[in-house]
Amino acid sequence: MEDYDKREKLKEFFLKIKNCEECELSRSRTKFVFGSGNACASIMFVGEAPGKNEDLQGLPFVGQAGKLLDELLDSIGFDRSEVFIANILKCRPPGNRDPRIEEINICKGYLLEQIKIIDPKIICTLGKFSTQLLLNTDKGINTLRGKVFKIDGRIIMPINHPAAVLYAPSRMEILKQDFKKIKRLIDSDGEMPACEEDVLNLESETTGDEQNKDEQLGLF
Ligand code: SF4
Repeated sequence: MEDYDKREKLKEFFLKIKNCEECELSRSRTKFVFGSGNACASIMFVGEAPGKNEDLQGLPFVGQAGKLLDELLDSIGFDRSEVFIANILKCRPPGNRDPRIEEINICKGYLLEQIKIIDPKIICTLGKFSTQLLLNTDKGINTLRGKVFKIDGRIIMPINHPAAVLYAPSRMEILKQDFKKIKRLIDSDGEMPACEEDVLNLESETTGDEQNKDEQLGLF
């Protein structure tokens, strides 16, 4: 798809879903948080749900975690206007509770459509929820972070959620190292450098309902 078409399609999609009332989170949200960034980005970051600041401003990752994400992007020579940042849920769960499975199941189609339109070469999943959704696995983030998966020609790399790292500063160095790895992936134009050893075969690494996986991957 041409760059112009991607921008128009994403705008069209935003207008179509911005008043969504498909789940109960529509009643407690202040603002719908579609995501932000470059519709033609080659790299996309996916978190779980808007927090308090995101809900107030209608933008993803604008609090302390967002500041950290900006710093990490800057450390690899990127500005957030060059990437696309989104969450699975577009509305804030009250009190910043975890997303519920039923909410994820209702809302995930929006994220998958965003991925389909933007068509990034690399997706970095931030934390457990987006990692488990996009890899269709029930494995934990500590097992998966820093590993590189290739699905239908697209790279998926799970990393720790910046908000989790703010609560556990000992993980900061790991996150910085993971960003260096992201940079290497970008520099290799979405291809894994030959020296990388942890490219995993998704078929052997994931668990769960195969039919659901097929449906999910069909949207990519
Ligand atoms: S969380 Fe998703 S499904 Fe629920 S109201 Fe918001 S946009 Fe709609």
